[in-house]
Amino acid sequence: MTTAPGAVHTVVVDGLALAQDLRAKLAGEVAALVAAGRRPPCLAVVLVGDDPASASYIKGKRRACERVGMASVERKLDAASTQPDVLACVESLNRDDGVDGILVQLPLPRPVSANAIASAIDPAKDVDGVGPLNAGRLLLGEPGLFPCTPLGILEILDRHAIPLEGAHAVVIGRSMIVGKPVSLLLQRRNATVTMCHSRTRDLAGWCRSADVLVSAVGVPRLVHGDWIRPGAAVVDVGVSEVDGAIVGDVDFEAARGVAGLLTPHRRGVGPMTITMLLQNTLLAYRQRSGA
Ligand code: NAP
Repeated sequence: MTTAPGAVHTVVVDGLALAQDLRAKLAGEVAALVAAGRRPPCLAVVLVGDDPASASYIKGKRRACERVGMASVERKLDAASTQPDVLACVESLNRDDGVDGILVQLPLPRPVSANAIASAIDPAKDVDGVGPLNAGRLLLGEPGLFPCTPLGILEILDRHAIPLEGAHAVVIGRSMIVGKPVSLLLQRRNATVTMCHSRTRDLAGWCRSADVLVSAVGVPRLVHGDWIRPGAAVVDVGVSEVDGAIVGDVDFEAARGVAGLLTPHRRGVGPMTITMLLQNTLLAYRQRSGA
């Protein structure tokens, strides 16, 4: 965590340090299970096609598993795979008692429906929280396996003691993987949530009224400094490439000195997303095995 100078004291979140702290705790829990004679939790990742970015994400997730002592398996399907091919792969992982979590890397090649695949994953192994049962549990306020990026965002806010009860939280973006679930998690914590999207009128006005602002869009520097209420907690989920450089949804330099808390586009939300995947895998393992 570093502090930037400016009109408002901005705390810049060090998501990597938070993630490392949590991963050390997870590693301790896994080591205790193994010391007690149990097998380690196991994450299965499915990669369809040869998209280099997806291959790199999968590699990062498997490496993260190894570092906390978890096992991982990879199923690679070629780009010409059909929906029945991918479904057959998911079903074999559902039946495999040694697999606790299943993650199918997105995007999938065109003829394969991401919703159909998500629905086929055993809800007890749905560590990405993409299936309808876990989505329903989130909506109903029940325990379940929920999407990793939203869980990571809540962890960041909690670690920095950001008050949520009664706060006005504005979420830009309404995807099933970030915008909708983070809105529900914030609402579960008694925030008053406004969900914004591409058709929202006066987006800047909504943002200015936010105590907590989460942007999950993918439009570079969409959120200007003067859209931020002084002292607000600002979480930038967006990742875009501009002239070979990675930029977020929030104009970071303009937001420094205005926001009270600010996540950078590097070492911000990203490391926490993978950490929550590990946490969900351990949770799925414990629920399946009773350990
Ligand atoms: P998505 O499915 O493409 O959803 C984007 C959302 O942004 C949509 O709801 C869309 O509105 C809204 N939107 C688009 N343009 C807008 C505008 N000009 N003003 C207001 N809202 C607008 O994306 P996603 O999967 O949620 O991901 C969002 C971003 O987060 C991407 O950059 C992605 O790479 C990044 N991401 C990062 C992590 C991480 O761990 N760091 C994890 C997941 C995603 P409509 O619904 O009206 O189309």
